[in-house]
Amino acid sequence: MQRLYQARDRIEAQLLLDFLDRHRLEAVILGDYLSGAAGGLPADIGPTLWVVEDDELERGRTLLGRFQADARRPSSAATWHCAGCGESVDGDFDLCWNCGEARDETGS
Ligand SMILES: [Zn+2]
Repeated sequence: MQRLYQARDRIEAQLLLDFLDRHRLEAVILGDYLSGAAGGLPADIGPTLWVVEDDELERGRTLLGRFQADARRPSSAATWHCAGCGESVDGDFDLCWNCGEARDETGS
């Protein structure tokens, strides 16, 4: 088993796992059970993606590159409206360019 990628959070890890699965690459998520279980852990310990078959690691890295390129594509992110000032903000940004308010994740 080979370590492929340290994910930012559980959601990113799951998205990547689904992506690899669609390309018939067997991978597992390790470590996500740590977060939340013992509240005192640093926030930067995210789940880690592992490629099950050692000789699939190269293919895993190639797919990872495509996954990250897809995630950066602007069309994939919807515009959101700032709760603080009402400006519309490009979906690539998590903070309002106008007033600095963070995106309200619970909003529509
Ligand atoms: Zn704003």
